[in-house]
Amino acid sequence: MKPMIPTPKLRVNEIFYSLQGEGARKGSANIFVRLAHCNLTCGYCDTEFESYRELSLEELLSECGRYKCPNVVFTGGEPLLQLTEDVATAFKDAGYFVALETNGSERPPKGIDYVAVSPKVAEHVVSQKFEGVHIHELRYVRNRSQGIPRPMVRADHYFLSPEFNGEFPDRENIEHCIRLVKEHPEWSLSVQEHKLLNIR
Ligand code: SF4
Repeated sequence: MKPMIPTPKLRVNEIFYSLQGEGARKGSANIFVRLAHCNLTCGYCDTEFESYRELSLEELLSECGRYKCPNVVFTGGEPLLQLTEDVATAFKDAGYFVALETNGSERPPKGIDYVAVSPKVAEHVVSQKFEGVHIHELRYVRNRSQGIPRPMVRADHYFLSPEFNGEFPDRENIEHCIRLVKEHPEWSLSVQEHKLLNIR
């Protein structure tokens, strides 16, 4: 095993083991590492991301190692406020498939296997930050008042995710997104199934 580069402690909101609930990797088992803090304040945000424990990289790897799963998803808050190339590389060296869920406001480091961007900011901001970055999926939360997104970046998959009403599906938002997908078939519907299944 390579010697580990000393990195600052990470502020970790929570670590849990569950199934990916949305997007192209939906249904796959993953260790979710929710890093604390966010740089945006979205009105519909239902995520608590301010509380945290400070863990060294070794401690984080050790906690993830309790789960017998080779997939890790860094999420938040906004994970790119803390997720550096050293952290991604350490997980890669430990044998993990490293996925990222980001709001698109910060550029990802090298060493990420799967980049899912769910932009909460104007599309052009994403394009400036992500020049040269391979985006595997773009996922936009949409409600009935919003039209089809016009992203300035390319991705392998384009998803529309109907905005929920808290934990509950919103029928009008779902029907609106279905209409948008039918009119723009390059997009696909992605419902937040973890909420429907009542899992994390
Ligand atoms: S970017 Fe995500 S975590 Fe941050 S405030 Fe918006 S919805 Fe919440």
